[in-house]
Amino acid sequence: MTKIPYRFYLPENEIPTQWYNMRADMKEQPDPLINPATMKPATEEDLYPVFCKKLAHQEMDSTTRYIDIPEPIREMYKIYRPSPLIRAYNLEKALGTPAKIYYKFEGNNTSGSHKLNSAIAQAYYAKDQGLTSLTTETGAGQWGTALSEACSYFGIPLTVYMVKVSYEQKPFRKTVMQTFDANIIPSPSSTTSIGRKILSENPNTTGSLGCAISEAVETATSTEGCRYVLGSVLNQVLLHQSIIGLESKKAMEILGEYPDVVIGCAGGGSNLGGLIAPFMQDKLTGKANPRIVAIEPASCPSMTRGKYAYDFCNTGKITPMARMYTLGSSFIPSANHAGGLRYHGMSPILSKLYHDGYMEAKSVEQSRVFEAAVMFSKLETILPAPESAHAIRGAIDEALHCKETGEAKTILFGLTGTGYFDMTAYSAYMEKRMTDYVPTDEELQASFDKLPTIPTME
Ligand SMILES: *Cc1c(COP(=O)(O)O)cnc(C)c1O
Repeated sequence: MTKIPYRFYLPENEIPTQWYNMRADMKEQPDPLINPATMKPATEEDLYPVFCKKLAHQEMDSTTRYIDIPEPIREMYKIYRPSPLIRAYNLEKALGTPAKIYYKFEGNNTSGSHKLNSAIAQAYYAKDQGLTSLTTETGAGQWGTALSEACSYFGIPLTVYMVKVSYEQKPFRKTVMQTFDANIIPSPSSTTSIGRKILSENPNTTGSLGCAISEAVETATSTEGCRYVLGSVLNQVLLHQSIIGLESKKAMEILGEYPDVVIGCAGGGSNLGGLIAPFMQDKLTGKANPRIVAIEPASCPSMTRGKYAYDFCNTGKITPMARMYTLGSSFIPSANHAGGLRYHGMSPILSKLYHDGYMEAKSVEQSRVFEAAVMFSKLETILPAPESAHAIRGAIDEALHCKETGEAKTILFGLTGTGYFDMTAYSAYMEKRMTDYVPTDEELQASFDKLPTIPTME
């Protein structure tokens, strides 16, 4: 057999033309979304004021296994996809492990992350429905950048509520979004009633993701022809991200490989849900049994220490409630450098799969994450995003375990993006100023106490 190359790109005729919907193969479904206005399961129509129709449909569709990717979306995917499947030969050698390490690299676009995969789909469906503008929020900036790029391509105006602290600390992120014509507003702002309320109570606040989401949702629901779009957590986003896993599985198949372990970082769960999708299908249908591992920050451990409960997806409490692993929507994680992983909840699909024992979760402290990031960048010529470095840490730990046991396992992990806008974090690590804050049980309990009371349907 020929040697497996460092980088492998799927040939054009093998590129997936459909997304895969994991729910179609799940024996038990995630609990339904609850409409907070009626306290009853939300219907597709309940979602129309917030999401565009096709996306509301995808959100609720738990039966269609494969969904065609519309031609205009595939055309834009072609600009930066397929993404490479890379064999980490150098990393394997440096670790002295018998394991084979593969990673799928999603950072080859301006947003520097996988988020563009769903941004394109969401911008396209909005345009197709004749909507005239979109709103969203961004914390670390990757989602805002991805959506700005997609909206500019499809010609739909976008307003981004950017958490004030990021707006001030990451001015170049703002400039990238402005390059794609997005209107950027630091949140909290005086453009919404929730923003004005927060500002009057606390004029010096640096903002939070929850507050930015609330402002974006309020503007979308009060502006004609405007809708809100979200970059993670939702079922529709996991569906769009399945392109990552479908390409990975096909590429490995062509190379004669299949992973024993699939590892990804978990913030709201979208890249992980996308990467594992076709492998989870094999597990759900009994075809294969790879281990699936989520890696989350110890500072924001929604799966490893959260509760499986109904909670609001945002602090504004206007979006539907979902049953998920959550630290409580009032939980404010300590300032961790992996901004994209600082979300209180977890995708309801992944939460259900984790609850039912189909996957594992581990939490890691950020200094060990950056140790892995620095090692990786020297060996693999990619400077990883701090979020992605959680998956690298997970893969390295797995490979080191193989070294002890002598098992030649095949590891696949998701390298979600690049970290060029995170150099403050890298310098904190290199100058030994990085701290590892782990919330206490009391802090978590204080947040659990504020969870909404909903009878769970069991
Ligand atoms: C947003 C982001 C994540 C985490 O989001 P998920 O929805 O959990 O995938 C991970 N990596 C990068 C680079 C990101 O931008």
